[in-house]
Amino acid sequence: MSADITHWADGRAFTGSSQQWAPVTNPATGAESGRVALASEADAAAVIASAVRAQPAWGDTSLARRTQVLFAFRELLNARRAELAAIITAEHGKVLSDALGEVARGLEVVEFACGISHLLKGGHTEGASTGVDVHSKRVPLGVVGVISPFNFPAMVPMWFFPVAIAAGNAVVLKPSEKDPSSSIWLARLWKEAGLPDGVFNVLQGDKVAVDALLTSPDVQAISFVGSTPIASYVYETASRHGKRVQALGGAKNHMVVLPDADLDLAADAAVSAGYGSAGERCMAISVLVAVDSIADDLVARVAERTRTLLIGDGGPGFDREADMGPLVTKAHRDRVAGLIGDGESAGAKVVVDGRTVQARGEADGFWLGPTLFDNVTADMDIYREEIFGPVLSVVRVATYAEAVELINANPYGNGTAVFTNDGGAARRFEKDVNVGMIGVNVPVPVPVAYYSFGGWKRSLFGDTHAHGVEGVHFFTRGKVVTTRWIDPANRPSGGLQLGFPQND
Ligand code: NAD
Repeated sequence: MSADITHWADGRAFTGSSQQWAPVTNPATGAESGRVALASEADAAAVIASAVRAQPAWGDTSLARRTQVLFAFRELLNARRAELAAIITAEHGKVLSDALGEVARGLEVVEFACGISHLLKGGHTEGASTGVDVHSKRVPLGVVGVISPFNFPAMVPMWFFPVAIAAGNAVVLKPSEKDPSSSIWLARLWKEAGLPDGVFNVLQGDKVAVDALLTSPDVQAISFVGSTPIASYVYETASRHGKRVQALGGAKNHMVVLPDADLDLAADAAVSAGYGSAGERCMAISVLVAVDSIADDLVARVAERTRTLLIGDGGPGFDREADMGPLVTKAHRDRVAGLIGDGESAGAKVVVDGRTVQARGEADGFWLGPTLFDNVTADMDIYREEIFGPVLSVVRVATYAEAVELINANPYGNGTAVFTNDGGAARRFEKDVNVGMIGVNVPVPVPVAYYSFGGWKRSLFGDTHAHGVEGVHFFTRGKVVTTRWIDPANRPSGGLQLGFPQND
């Protein structure tokens, strides 16, 4: 059945007047499952206007009432997480258990936002100066835009919108046009949870929709997640238009295995973090850095495990769930397969070749098996490019220092991991690497919701990471109020005082 996936404004589906649509496919079958509206500038203006109308009353709603809506949303999402996971699998292709994991990590941020009252408390100082008190508060920004990538159609939007809404803002979400249905499902859930119409809106589309958000004078802030070239463009454009911006970009995450590591644990971790979600995770491990003395042994263990993976349709109805689903589109599958060819031509050793995989699924699905490369060097395209597919490259190094040098020379700084049983080495690694999120014997170190998520260097433009305390700060502005009430017992002397006020 083919469905029309529309925008969402004023608490209901909104088709808009643009006649532009893009096909949405099921990656496991290659079949078109629907089409998504691509907003015109007028459609974008209509959706933004819905948020503008709704925000003042929502910002004035008491914290108690706002958080009650968050709690209701949390209950609904928790009860119906399987429905959302099925939508994710059908449009993205990741296997159901992985889609459930995505929902669970998004739910964590909703739960964090349920307790936002604690983080919106201001400070108070009595008697900062004689008869003068000072207090601070955090207030909502107004309307904020969230622009998200295809690879986490539910979790990445949920890094931002629960916090933004709890803080009193209205949100316009621009999801990826490749898997847009989750956003509409979430919009309906908000309505059911009692969120007033217009506080959460969805604007479907491509560059036209994004540019409308980046340039609208009614939008105060932009949270973006996607590839580095677009993140950089979003950061520059939205900043130029006076907005607060956090733009999270691409990644190339290295996992270093030191000679004393438990090699079975490291091999399990490398395969799980390299090929989970077909490598379409910004925190996927794409480079395995092996110190020479254990490299042969490690590569053999990784290869053995890689060959056992079942590639196939990750949806329901099978006795055994596939380990890895298809890639998101045919074009992306072909690009990744092309990069594997480039790696081979450049002299990297293909240990496991994903291009020859027999997938359990329909022939037209966007299949590509896991590929393992050995003897990759830093000048090869497969090292330099973010492949964003099931390709793991082993780079061999002679020493720990060489491993750190490799990581720090890389333009990205999203995540990294070290596998070792030596606490001192791990402690040194944590200090030595210029990377935002670090795992010690943890290959995908995505921080829990009450910490903040974000990388360094070309993995994040702006200075604020997602969720946690930084997220609350991003979606609020500070005010400081200095107060003097006239106390008859301590009346100021009065008179004109043109000098700069001093405290006493
Ligand atoms: P993308 O950059 O192609 O798209 C992201 C968003 O930008 C989408 O909503 C898309 O519609 C929009 N967009 C695309 N081209 C545009 C253009 N020319 N002008 C304006 N807007 C445009 O990214 P993607 O392929 O959807 O997602 C994969 C990328 O996202 C990878 O690079 C991955 O590393 C990155 N990512 C990063 C993080 C992180 O936390 N750093 C998390 C998830 C994904």
